[in-house]
Amino acid sequence: MRIDIKSMTLDEMTQFVKELGEPAFRGKQIFRWLHRGVSSFEEMSDLSKSLRNKLEEISFITVPKVERKQISKLDGTVKYLWRLKDENCVETVLMRYRHGNTVCISSQVGCRMGCAFCASTIGGKVRDLTPAEMLDQVLFTQKDSGLEISNIVLMGIGEPLDNMETVLRFLELVNSSEGMNIGMRHISLSTCGLTEQIDKLAQLRLQLTLSVSLHAPDDETRSRIMPVNRGEGVEKLFACCRRYFETTGRRISYEYSMIDGVNDSDWQADLLANHLKGTPGHVNLIPLNEVAESPFHPSRRIREFQRRLEQQGVTVTVRRRLGGDIDASCGQLRRKRMEEKIQ
Ligand code: SAH
Repeated sequence: MRIDIKSMTLDEMTQFVKELGEPAFRGKQIFRWLHRGVSSFEEMSDLSKSLRNKLEEISFITVPKVERKQISKLDGTVKYLWRLKDENCVETVLMRYRHGNTVCISSQVGCRMGCAFCASTIGGKVRDLTPAEMLDQVLFTQKDSGLEISNIVLMGIGEPLDNMETVLRFLELVNSSEGMNIGMRHISLSTCGLTEQIDKLAQLRLQLTLSVSLHAPDDETRSRIMPVNRGEGVEKLFACCRRYFETTGRRISYEYSMIDGVNDSDWQADLLANHLKGTPGHVNLIPLNEVAESPFHPSRRIREFQRRLEQQGVTVTVRRRLGGDIDASCGQLRRKRMEEKIQ
């Protein structure tokens, strides 16, 4: 088994080269090459031929292939479907905001959380991604597009806190000043609300933004559309969010995808406002993206719901839809390819 060299942290890389009888600074050299997106050891021109051969023998460099790429004519959003080493595919979306270029990356191939409105979970989880495969999505999106990436959101396919060790390692890699050097304050992590993992994350006191996919303020609705809620409940989730804020001082952002007749009633806005009393947080209302296999439709009450929350002192934003013409959301491109393969 060859070693996945790009998943190594700088410290590990330094240790690794020392064990090969090389001076410590070679670790940094290799790390820099890898984080510039080279696809072979051959390109590492300041290493000796014999070291390059040795590295080739005992390790490998992950290089995702562009399986499909779609560019939105509406807003320049780019969607990549990457083919990984084992032929599995994951999606990355590049969004061009005024405050900087943002990539939305995947953390798993598929997902096992089973949210009823989400395309990524159909077919379940195939496998976790590796730290290198997460980093590659940022690295190769930047390389392919020629645009400098300044922000990352972990909101693609998969549940990041269901692959937490990998995600933490990815954060260390992408944050490294010898690598892409993307600051924690430029990174958001979105979770369906795994409370035990959120508590663990809080202890690390990272400066990233935590987004919690809430989607309903009452147990009956939330358990219906998000199986993760069944063993836990909304009260327990909010208590956990409160602890997170107390420990980290970071305000949580709550994602709320508006579904017609399911979670868009006035009483649900009132209940949500009530939950948020005493916990500084921010609500992001998301127009539902229709998924062919799902019975849900977008709500027509987003503005009313927003106003009702605001009247009760809640800070609310409505997410702008980007890439509406290119299946840019939530695992839809991967689904499409899977269907094509079946047919
Ligand atoms: N597993 C993580 C991150 C992935 S999904 C999480 O649950 O947060 C990113 C966001 O998109 C989540 O809030 C998710 O619930 C939401 N989402 C999924 N499918 C959607 C759809 N069809 N329309 C609108 N939002 C959706």
